[in-house]
Amino acid sequence: MNSLINSVALGGLGLIVGSFLAALSVRLPLDEDIVSAPSRCRGCERRLRPWERVPVFSWLVLRGRCARCGTRVSPRYPLIEFGAAAIGVWAAVWGAWAGVSIFLMAATALLGWQLLLIALLDGEHFWLPDRLTLPLIGTGLAVALAQGWTVALSNLVGAVAGFAGLWLVGWLYRAARKRQGLGGGDPILFAGAGAWVGWIGLPSVLLWACAAALGLVFGLLAVRRSIQATTKLPFGVFLAVGVWLTWLYGPLAL
Ligand SMILES: [Zn+2]
Repeated sequence: MNSLINSVALGGLGLIVGSFLAALSVRLPLDEDIVSAPSRCRGCERRLRPWERVPVFSWLVLRGRCARCGTRVSPRYPLIEFGAAAIGVWAAVWGAWAGVSIFLMAATALLGWQLLLIALLDGEHFWLPDRLTLPLIGTGLAVALAQGWTVALSNLVGAVAGFAGLWLVGWLYRAARKRQGLGGGDPILFAGAGAWVGWIGLPSVLLWACAAALGLVFGLLAVRRSIQATTKLPFGVFLAVGVWLTWLYGPLAL
């Protein structure tokens, strides 16, 4: 019963968070005002009324169009809202399975929502803004500290090792191949990974990330899209998947 209430609560919160994330994912790359600017139709500039802003529901009722001018509203909005709700439910179901506190359940949802936004920006724009990856380090260390000094220390070492590790990989790649292999934001994202899963979880994050990247490459090959060694892949998306799975299911045992 409790797990049902938690699922509904975190899923419902996820819908609201999702509509904020969807707006951020559009506004951040355009460098638009992200907090105070009201939601407007991108066709007729009209301010959206409250009932037109109900996550998922409004888009379905209006069949993905503006109520006045009929401009198409991208399905990305309901999809991101749904995705954030799914992350909330996942956190609650995982929490019941793992037998963790409400605090850790909420922290898990927070992690998932941060990773969702980071993955969206890297996936669409190959951009890992510091103002998203640095807070990931902050929240990770805060959650670790709430669990005691041992966890906090392990995760602080993880953050430092994560940054240093990927920075070194990027440096070696540049030195060897004379071109940029990793984006500048990847080491900071990997520091965020360490802040959440500790240094002991970092190899698992990389393994999951590589598995996810290979999965995508094989998927693209299966639909006969050509891929070269120089094809750019959003590594941050794969790292985000790795952090999420390692946080939920622990470091992989070798
Ligand atoms: Zn309109």
